[in-house]
Amino acid sequence: MPGYKESDPFYHSKEWKKLRMDALMRDGGMCQDCMDKFRAGIIRRPRRAVMVHHIIPRKERPDLELVMDNLRSLCATCHEEHHPERRAKAKRKTAERRAPAGGHRMRVIKV
Ligand SMILES: [Zn+2]
Ligand SMILES: [Zn+2]
Repeated sequence: MPGYKESDPFYHSKEWKKLRMDALMRDGGMCQDCMDKFRAGIIRRPRRAVMVHHIIPRKERPDLELVMDNLRSLCATCHEEHHPERRAKAKRKTAERRAPAGGHRMRVIKV
């Protein structure tokens, strides 16, 4: 996906790859945002996680980049919602509705 910093050496480090696997295991390989929406009855079918997201961005808290509690397994769709600034055709209003650092607020999804 354009805009993703895949070239960042951090994502190629042994430590990250291991922790990423651990986080996926902890979350049962499922997208945690989807699971929240699923439990709330908003969606019928949770999606599998395809990446592990930093709840507090590494930019803000590089010291938390390898802390399990700061990680959250997400599917591509939900992950995008956490990074509205990365979207090419950014819808500005999603930026304002972003969850505050450390917390994940439920958002109404468009059907
Ligand atoms: Zn999801
Ligand atoms: Zn992310």
